[in-house]
Amino acid sequence: MNHSSIIRASALEYVRGVTSGEFTAEEFLSETLSRVGEAETRYHAYLRVEDSQRLLARAREVDRGIKSGQKVGLLAGMPVSIKDNICMRGSRTTCGSRMLEGFVAPYDATAVSRLHAEGAIIVAKANMDEFAMGLSTEFSAYGPSRNPWNTEYVPGGSSGGSAVAAAAFECVASLGSDTGGSVRNPASFCSVVGYKPTYGLVSRHGLVSYANSIEQIGPIARTVSDAALVLGVIAGRDEHDDTTADAAADDYLEGIEGGVEGMRVGIVDEMTEGADPEVARAVARAAGDLEAAGASCERISLDMVGYSVPSYYTITAAEAASNLARYDNLRYGYDLPTDGYEFNSYVAEARGRFGPEVTRRMILGGYVSSAGHAGRYYLKALKVRAKLTREVADAFASSYDILMAPTVPILPFRIGEKSDDPVSLFMVDLNTVTANLTRRPAVSVPYAVSAGGLPIGIQMMADSMQDKTLLRAARALERKRPPLPEVPD
Ligand code: GLN
Repeated sequence: MNHSSIIRASALEYVRGVTSGEFTAEEFLSETLSRVGEAETRYHAYLRVEDSQRLLARAREVDRGIKSGQKVGLLAGMPVSIKDNICMRGSRTTCGSRMLEGFVAPYDATAVSRLHAEGAIIVAKANMDEFAMGLSTEFSAYGPSRNPWNTEYVPGGSSGGSAVAAAAFECVASLGSDTGGSVRNPASFCSVVGYKPTYGLVSRHGLVSYANSIEQIGPIARTVSDAALVLGVIAGRDEHDDTTADAAADDYLEGIEGGVEGMRVGIVDEMTEGADPEVARAVARAAGDLEAAGASCERISLDMVGYSVPSYYTITAAEAASNLARYDNLRYGYDLPTDGYEFNSYVAEARGRFGPEVTRRMILGGYVSSAGHAGRYYLKALKVRAKLTREVADAFASSYDILMAPTVPILPFRIGEKSDDPVSLFMVDLNTVTANLTRRPAVSVPYAVSAGGLPIGIQMMADSMQDKTLLRAARALERKRPPLPEVPD
């Protein structure tokens, strides 16, 4: 491999290459950093790149470790990035909001300390919709990221920066967070793999909360195996997060090549019927690929999916409103005059500066959970969640290993095209929120590129804690799919 091509390596290729001496961690990192410098003028995937001298010093340490036969960790100096709502000690963490402009994280998220423990080098904090609310990265207070397949188009969101960075070779892999699709949606729009683990598999400690009962940190990478490798590093019980499952650390690459022979796949009607025709055709072809690989595919109807989006936005708004109440502008945030300070007007002034989407969620969340309205909205949304969970659990218990659908029912859209129409934006989440509400794992696998040159991803979902089955199915589809074009540059 020559220098300009080494950074296109998958994570597994990186590890093989660096440990066998094909290239050094320092070479790889410095190629990546120069790629970042050049790509960022077009894509704006990153909000901040860490100090390059410090990063390169780390890489040299890894190289010395490899030369002298020391343990350098599973990731051995691999350049990765993380979404800007994940805390890294000493590094600014803004959540794409001006409210957290001056916030320097005093500790590492568990996912970050686990990445570090395996030798990863975290090069940058990735752009995102403000507080992870959105699906286009247009709600970042620092300006949108752009889709490398066509820079006039959104990259999806809210982990848009992470998906762009992985797609445009600005890192080998990235971490995003997925509350209602924020890892899978941008992965689909940028033609990379986005993995949302079973709820409780990955610690949320150090993830700035949006909707605690629903969200998970998840990897975004260029291949299914790369996502599995990173998942294995960050997953497992954490004493700092009591919602983590009692699962021991596991190797998610194990069995991943096992194929789908004998697997039963349900294609969800409610998630496919209204889809863009090119997207729907991709799902039909993906089903054909899986059948050719020995799976059986049939259509399934899940009635409650039709109510999932209202339920999702009601519950997440209520949790978001509660989480956002802590931003009082006292420790960091806007530089406001304090002459004649009076608490209410000061806080109102500061909180009035949240972006439009965050403001909408605060108002909505306060309303749906208020004493007079909770019965009609919040409690009803919880009932929908319970029914949907039962429906999905039954589908897995009785008939299916995998539920499949488009990740997003539409193709990527133009920047600005939907920003004035929040309800139509909410509906873009139709296919992704079910996995979050029901706590099931789900993945988006790049599958095709539309006639207009825009990526199409396929979503697969499995039962709780069946993450290995899900990865195996995703890998089978990745192996079977027709060859994908390279991202234009
Ligand atoms: N678009 C969804 C929302 O705005 C999902 C966001 C996410 O997964 N963080 O809530």
